[in-house]
Amino acid sequence: MYDVIIIGGGPAGLTAALYAGRSRFKALLLEKMGLGGQIILTPTIENYPGFVGGVATSDLISAMQKQVDELGVTIKSDEVVSIVGDAYFKVSAREGNYEAKTVIIATGAFPKKLNIPGEERLIAKGVSYCGTCDGPLFKNKHVFVIGGGDKAVEEAIYLTRFAQKVTLIHRRDTLRASKIIQERLFENKKIEVLWSTVPLEIVGENKVEAIRIKNLKNNEIADASCQGVFVFVGIHPNTESLGHLIKLDEQGFILTDEAMKTSVEGIFAAGDCRKKTLAQVITACGDGATAAFSVNHYLELHK
Ligand code: NAP
Repeated sequence: MYDVIIIGGGPAGLTAALYAGRSRFKALLLEKMGLGGQIILTPTIENYPGFVGGVATSDLISAMQKQVDELGVTIKSDEVVSIVGDAYFKVSAREGNYEAKTVIIATGAFPKKLNIPGEERLIAKGVSYCGTCDGPLFKNKHVFVIGGGDKAVEEAIYLTRFAQKVTLIHRRDTLRASKIIQERLFENKKIEVLWSTVPLEIVGENKVEAIRIKNLKNNEIADASCQGVFVFVGIHPNTESLGHLIKLDEQGFILTDEAMKTSVEGIFAAGDCRKKTLAQVITACGDGATAAFSVNHYLELHK
């Protein structure tokens, strides 16, 4: 019986594991893929405090893992399929079954799709959700980026390392992204921004050849030739199998209080899988620390 099982090995889960290790809990972290979560798709984190000029994401995650390893927290590669229980919890995963007095869910999120014709069919044939992974494939090409948040703007700038031209289209006429990266976007000569424009279809037989776009101000529809379409229109939480167990909002994000308690006593949540104001590495780490602190409090009360 573990004191706590942490599900997810991104910044939230790793920080929860760090704090659990320092509290000398018998702790297990389960991660279905590699450690790092979504952020591993971004090469550098520029706004993590203490790192002037930014920190390489892989370095930050490796350092977090090392801290957790040194504290003796077990990390296993396994995919959780169900959690049941109340006084204690049975966590079933693909490779094994585990029991714990408490659970911290830090399963993160994944990129949303546009759900327009051509998108699904042309994934890996020019449609991508990850500039870091696929950017180098578009050397000297013209690519479109969809979205107006931090992710779309950061990735549009990153893609100019490879692409000859990057066109960012956004459905409104102001960006959601933070001002500092907007400034860099507007300074970049390789980037064109099309305002109040939405994608209707991604066109191409076996690879992306064009994107059909609509200007919402004058309703004009046009096919713009391009070789790649990068979609960054927000995130969807990894909480599919949890709806029966804990309260989620209408988009599937886990509802917690400020102590990271979910609607079920003994289950806590941290990071991008929970409903929150700001999804950042720094806030994910804060959530993880708080969740582990709340586990400590819970275990004291339920000795
Ligand atoms: P986001 O902030 O939710 O932005 C999504 C963008 O996509 C919005 O501009 C939205 O338009 C647009 N959009 C949504 N659905 C669309 C659709 N069907 N068609 C066209 N456009 C659509 O998502 P994100 O940029 O992926 O970021 C997710 C979280 O991670 C955010 O909290 C963000 O701050 C954080 N993040 C932070 C950093 C950083 O600080 N360095 C980097 C990356 C991500 P509207 O604006 O009109 O809603």
